[in-house]
Amino acid sequence: MSRSYSTGSRGGDRVRADRSGPIVRASGGSEERAVVQRVVNQPLAVAERAIHRASTENVAIYKDGKQIAVSNGSDREVVFTKEEMKLMKGSVLTHNHPQGTSFSRADLQLIKQRKLEEIRAVANYDDMTYSLKPPKDSLLWKTSVAKLASDHEKLRRAVYENAGYLKEYDAREKACVAWYRKNKEWPSPEQVPDRIPSEVHRSAVNDSIEALDIKYKLGYTKTPIQ
Ligand SMILES: [Zn+2]
Repeated sequence: MSRSYSTGSRGGDRVRADRSGPIVRASGGSEERAVVQRVVNQPLAVAERAIHRASTENVAIYKDGKQIAVSNGSDREVVFTKEEMKLMKGSVLTHNHPQGTSFSRADLQLIKQRKLEEIRAVANYDDMTYSLKPPKDSLLWKTSVAKLASDHEKLRRAVYENAGYLKEYDAREKACVAWYRKNKEWPSPEQVPDRIPSEVHRSAVNDSIEALDIKYKLGYTKTPIQ
């Protein structure tokens, strides 16, 4: 999730759900649906290779090594059903980040709120696999989502400030939130202009998760995609 995740029904059509296989939902055009089909019933490593260059987000969830759900979203957000949310506890959730960044605040919130065992993201920018697998004694489990979000925000703002883009960042965040409230989806850079260079956005995301890993012991790793 690069911007947000939420629960609701606008997550695409349920295309398959037999008792033995994963829950599968797909939205978008034929290209997006084809990516989903390449993931269904595949082991984690195959699924990650199938999604890492996709231009919209795809999600695959595994429990005890078995694939339990596959779905997709836009390039900025993913919507899960209540059923999927329930299944997530103790699972390994992998997805791709079309913007090529490490974990977002939404990812941190998801692992904490749904008690995931591990969250993974594959990035199309540097062909890296990112993983957060917080140990039992990680401070993440003892910290509120609100505190995590505010720590994360402080770290992000520090990166924008150092790069000389804090004013633009704050103004754009405000405009994006206003857009989201009105349209119920996050705007594209065309809908709310973005003058901040993509490398500044990338370092805001990547540096803040590294700093949070040191503070909270998140079990963060970054390895080349297999
Ligand atoms: Zn994400």
